Amino acid sequence: MLYYNIDKPSRKVSLVEAVMRSASEERALYMPEKIPSLDSSFFEHFSEMTLQETAYRVTEPVFGEDIPAEELRNIIERALNFDIPLVKLFPDIYVLELFHGPTFAFKDVGARFLAGMLDYFAGSINNEIKVLVATSGDTGGAVANAFAGKKNIKVVILYPSGRVSFIQEQQLTKAGENILALEIKGDFDDCQKLVKQAFADSKLNEEIVLTSANSINFARLFPQSVYYFYSFAQLKKNDYPVVFSVPSGNFGNLTAGLIAKRMGLPAVKFIASTNINRSVPLYLESGKFVPHHSFPTISNAMDVGNPSNFRRILDLYSNDIEKIRADISGFWFTDEKTRQAMKELYTRYSYIADPHTAVAYLGLKEYMKNNSCTGIFLATAHPGKFPEEVEKTLDKQVTLPVSHKTTSYSHHRKMAADYRLLREILKSSF
Ligand SMILES: *Cc1c(COP(=O)(O)O)cnc(C)c1O
Repeated sequence: MLYYNIDKPSRKVSLVEAVMRSASEERALYMPEKIPSLDSSFFEHFSEMTLQETAYRVTEPVFGEDIPAEELRNIIERALNFDIPLVKLFPDIYVLELFHGPTFAFKDVGARFLAGMLDYFAGSINNEIKVLVATSGDTGGAVANAFAGKKNIKVVILYPSGRVSFIQEQQLTKAGENILALEIKGDFDDCQKLVKQAFADSKLNEEIVLTSANSINFARLFPQSVYYFYSFAQLKKNDYPVVFSVPSGNFGNLTAGLIAKRMGLPAVKFIASTNINRSVPLYLESGKFVPHHSFPTISNAMDVGNPSNFRRILDLYSNDIEKIRADISGFWFTDEKTRQAMKELYTRYSYIADPHTAVAYLGLKEYMKNNSCTGIFLATAHPGKFPEEVEKTLDKQVTLPVSHKTTSYSHHRKMAADYRLLREILKSSF
């Protein structure tokens, strides 16, 4: 399978390149040249399959030419070693809980799959890979945990000093010996600038194999298609039609749903549910895409004014807005509405949702006002990750299911936002 960069479609690259290069070419969005349809035997048997088997059957047609079957199965077993339950709240309303991974957010799915894949590539190119990533909090934790202990890979994570929560800092600094957390005296933009400088440093990139674990990476995005099939398979024919409501920021999760549909998933509709960072719902309404600076909200992992995967969606539908509207409806909500939804979920269904999940519920409800269907809304984070907001809104204490496991080992340095220092660290074998 070859991959094209949607900005330069004529130049095609291998999977290894598409996965490794999404670092060096800024905002390079790769897509596979074909999106295969799954065969009917898959749909006849998918309701009997485990999550891991579903994952294999969905990813094999895309990755199978580049990764041997046994390796792909290994990657899946290690990456998806947690449950993704579909919880029924009401006869026609379900919530798909994507937050049972080690860092309690759906980003574990993509980050763990990518880690397994890079580990396999590192072995096959016989070289150590260095992964560099800047984080404002959540992504870093999922990446650190996913790559911990991978022996051919070293990870450097930059985070802004004093701007991440205690739990997040623990997840970053105590993940494992191959993960080095650099606390940068500066803000998130300073961190990101340093990362960009490193990727633009061609001399450095000749000396070491440097890559990124950012969320536009296709190997992080595509495995998320799996849980759309897995959850759909648990419904019965008389539940159809089925819609998914996806709480969206960078739109990787929703794009994975659209790819699933292209592979044959018979979902009728996807709902792009956002907070006031609403450039995509407004696009669906007006036909014009106007990116904006991000506004802070209580569902802060979705505070994205210019979602990077939006262009992937345009590409998938050849820029045809009518076709896009046929598959996606969009709604956006204020923090006040989000808090009301958290209360409603709790009083009606005794369900405690985090703010991101509550936005997805709102989008589904809005859609179901005028359409009869079975709705699945995606729960992207455990409420215990946002204890202050949940306690303030529901007057109820929430905790994470287990105290977060970290090693006693701390691999952490505090440094100025100085590229020369970062460069030395990347060249060393820390
Ligand atoms: C990242 C994130 C999102 C947004 O996902 P995208 O794929 O960027 O749209 C939603 N909820 C939570 C909790 C997240 O961490």
